[in-house]
Order: sequence, then structure tokens, then C-alpha cells
Amino acid sequence: MKTRLKIAIQKSGRLSESSLKLLKECGIEFDNGLNKLKAEAFNFPLEVFFLRDDDIPQYVEDGVADIGIVGENVVLEKNKKTKTVNRLGFGKCRLSIAIPKEQKYNSLKDFEGKRFATSYPTILADYLLKNKISAEIQEISGSVEIAPGIGLADAICDLVSSGSTLFTNGLKETDVILRSEALLISNNSITKEKQSILNKLLFRINAVRSAKNNKYILLNAPNNKLETICKILPGMKSPTILPLAEKGWSSVHSVVEEDQFWEIIEKLKTNGAQGILVVPIEKMIL
Ligand code: ATP
Ligand code: ZN
Repeated sequence: MKTRLKIAIQKSGRLSESSLKLLKECGIEFDNGLNKLKAEAFNFPLEVFFLRDDDIPQYVEDGVADIGIVGENVVLEKNKKTKTVNRLGFGKCRLSIAIPKEQKYNSLKDFEGKRFATSYPTILADYLLKNKISAEIQEISGSVEIAPGIGLADAICDLVSSGSTLFTNGLKETDVILRSEALLISNNSITKEKQSILNKLLFRINAVRSAKNNKYILLNAPNNKLETICKILPGMKSPTILPLAEKGWSSVHSVVEEDQFWEIIEKLKTNGAQGILVVPIEKMIL
């Protein structure tokens, strides 16, 4: 029987869509019909398990799945023996402490002897211990944000992304404990054969992720400005320069990183670039 790498992803929740999308962008096709527990890819030696995110670290530790996609918050909370292979750049959120918004707050010391409600008792306990605060931790599995309102706790420790849930529940964020994103984790001892499948998958994931962080840029420039413009554009090696039909002008092509993008565009414009086109890159092999 052909060896397949087994990957666990969240069945339904905040990470599901992005996890499926990532596999799709890696060119891996499978049938993920509703209520399916697993699926075999048609064109890559991969078997996909659809699970609750909380169970993924355990399954990966046990080798039921070889790898998994799960939030760093869950990985740290479950504290299982797994390896982090890659950070995936989606599912970004923070694990924060919040208190009723009318309450005054000075420092972590204010929490001495107080009661916390959280679904992340391990991470919170660790954080409080490191900061030498002793407080009571009440573990609850959902709707943590209502705990202060019903008198269950003085503060909460919960996941936040925009902060709107906190706001609608009359809470304010006081401390960020962890900045989390989705991770690709793996079993600590996968076979050589599976490792080589994983390497192929990682190669594709990296190509997809670099493409997302970069844009392809085309512009026209007068020849006497080419030198300055090439200095502004880093490019993968160096920019491509092609002569235009109009005499004295050239077309310049290059790749620009997303986070430097606007700064570079402005410099290009002030240095005489015209007709700037920016195109998304689908895959990028470095
Ligand atoms: P499951 O049914 O699989 O147990 P869940 O309800 O525990 O799902 P989700 O709410 O779907 O989990 O969140 C999954 C992960 O998405 C979180 O563990 C976290 O890593 C990430 N995430 C990103 N933004 C947020 C957010 N605003 N709130 C909660 N989780 C977020
Ligand atoms: Zn969960």
C-alpha cells in the first residue's frame, strides 16, 4: 500500500476555511463533503482528517495523524510532545486578560488574589506564575466573556481578534499574554518516507506563502531615470528592463514585498515612474 502522510485539520471553525484553502493552493485536491471524517487526496500522497481543534495536538503526539494545522494557543495549552514545522500566517489572534471596563487598572499586581475565568488555564497559570501573581483560575469551556457580568470571575483570559466581543460585553483588554497564529505541527518521530512527503508539502506551502507576501510590479520609466529606479526596486535578483516602442523609455519588471509596497510605490512615482501596474503572484519558487 502506498504511504500517505496524514494531516489533521479543524473540521469546522475559524481555521477550517484557511486550512482547506492552503491545501488547495498547494495543488492538493480531495473531496471534503459535509460530515466527512477523512478524505484521501487524489493527486498527492495525503490523507486529511477533520477534527475538533482541541484534539489535534494529542492525535499528532500519538501519531494517529502525522501532522496537523492548529492554533498556537491550543498547542501551548495542550502542551503535547509535537514539533512546530511552520508558522502559517493565518488564524491570527491574541490571548489576553480583560476586566470590566469601568474598573481601574494599574498593573498585573492588581490581580493578586482575584478570580479568573478562562479556557486556557495552563497558559494563564504559567503567565501568572512567571509574574509572581497568585490568583484563582476557574476553567470554563465557552462564553468566557460573560463570566465577570454574572459574578463568576473578576477577570477573564480569552482570545481576542478585533476586540468587538470584549466591547459588547463591557470589558477592556489589559494585558496580552500571547500572540497566536495557525501552526503546522508534526509528530516527533515520523518515518523517512513520510518526512519526504512532508518536505514536498513544505516546499509548496513556502511557495504559496512567499507569493502572498510579494507582488509583481511593472512600470514605465524614462531611460535617464533607470538607474535611480533600479536602486529603489530590490527584485529577486535584479529588475528586468525591456525597451519600449517609444524611444528613450523602458519597461521595468520586479518583485516587491507587501510590507514595503506603498513606500516603494511612492518613491518610484517621485522618481519618474509611470503606468505602474501591480499584479498578484500565484506561486513563487525561490
Ligand atoms: P472546535 O469546535 O474545533 O473545538 P473552537 O470553537 O474551539 O472549535 P474556533 O473558535 O473555531 O475554535 O477557533 C479556532 C482557532 O482559531 C482558535 O484556537 C485560534 O487559534 C483561532 N482564532 C483566530 N481568531 C480568533 C478569535 N477572534 N477568537 C477565537 N479564536 C480565534
Ligand atoms: Zn476547540
